[in-house]
Amino acid sequence: MQAKAFEDKVWLSSPTMHGEEIKYINEAYETNWMSTIGENINQIERLVSEKMGCGHAVALATGTSALHMAVKLAGIEPGEKVFCSDMTFGASVNPVVYEGGIPVFIDSEYDTWNMDPVALEKAFEIYPEVRVVIVVHLYGTPAKIDVIKSICEKHNAILIEDAAESLGATYKGKQTGTFGRYNAISFNGNKIITGTSGGILLTNSTEAAHKVRKWSTQSREPAPWYQHEELGYNYRMSNIVAGVVRGQLPYLEEHIAQKKAIYKRYKEGFKDLPVSMNPVDEENSKPNFWLSCMLIDEAAMCNQILGECEAFYTSEKGKSCPAEILEMLAKCNAEGRPIWKPMHMQPIYQRNDFVTREGNGCEKTKDYIASDSIGKDGHPLDVGMDIFYRGLCLPSDNKMTVEQQDRIIKIVRGCFD
Ligand SMILES: *Cc1c(COP(=O)(O)O)cnc(C)c1O
Repeated sequence: MQAKAFEDKVWLSSPTMHGEEIKYINEAYETNWMSTIGENINQIERLVSEKMGCGHAVALATGTSALHMAVKLAGIEPGEKVFCSDMTFGASVNPVVYEGGIPVFIDSEYDTWNMDPVALEKAFEIYPEVRVVIVVHLYGTPAKIDVIKSICEKHNAILIEDAAESLGATYKGKQTGTFGRYNAISFNGNKIITGTSGGILLTNSTEAAHKVRKWSTQSREPAPWYQHEELGYNYRMSNIVAGVVRGQLPYLEEHIAQKKAIYKRYKEGFKDLPVSMNPVDEENSKPNFWLSCMLIDEAAMCNQILGECEAFYTSEKGKSCPAEILEMLAKCNAEGRPIWKPMHMQPIYQRNDFVTREGNGCEKTKDYIASDSIGKDGHPLDVGMDIFYRGLCLPSDNKMTVEQQDRIIKIVRGCFD
């Protein structure tokens, strides 16, 4: 198939500025608050806690540092197991390891692509001692967070939400990032709104917010000199970064509306193809539609092999696969992306425990480790592996025009010719 390349690259999800950002950056400059203290920081903490309906918002350098502080607040002991979403970005899991904890991965469900509550219950049967659960709302689609929360309550476990991708998404009318005891959002450059970088820890606990303010500014004790009783971090957000976030915050709903329109157009454009879009539980949740993703029906998959660092496929009439579609998009100067490769498949975490609906999922992973690739020997896949194998993220930039999107739809359709 030959498709004409886009003159300007169509991005997966790039920053969208509106003009106010520069005003707040200038204000910081003119008043000389070129620091990790200043009015922009104060204002975004106020605005975010109000918008989210959450007691406290602490502005930090990154979403990852917010997650690290959340894990530290939960008081993980060295060697302690923590239940984590499996199909996610490594940054949602690594902070557990920073604190000496051991992530145990919980398989995903097809309903939301997020942590499977059934597998989570199973995990508590196997490891009743676990006290902390970290749940991700992938691609801006809320997990079944009320069920997950009640499972955590039943087992006396602390719930942490990684809402890095889901700012503005709600579940049963409540913002994601406000269900857990300690939660994180991110303003990384490709998120729904950005500060270039930056993150916020959300909590209703005044004591926890106070601790994070102290830890993130080198844990200074009130004394005339630098006095330290606790380990410190340099994790506070810059007032310049906060200026960008402050300029972006009024546009969150506009970005969500644009991303939702992109999702709907893809859905419409693919309705007669053997594919589905990432699922949305319309009844309970309002996603922020950060990334539009698609999943190819099993019967419409051409032969594809995913090795450790390479993908191979053989074109077939009427069929396609993520590797082929991503290649075609890249040829046309459009940026797609594979689904987050599940953590239990990552070399760094391959030896960690992994729990599926059926119980211990390590058997399936062992097949994968033994063959070092998925796709060639037809062994059964767990849900995360399956979505990784058959799914992909489509260009979802909110500056993409309808014409550009129509061409992307055509390119994808062409792969199934
Ligand atoms: C982006 C992201 C993070 C990390 O946020 P940073 O601000 O980049 O540190 C964590 N978890 C998930 C799921 C993310 O997508």
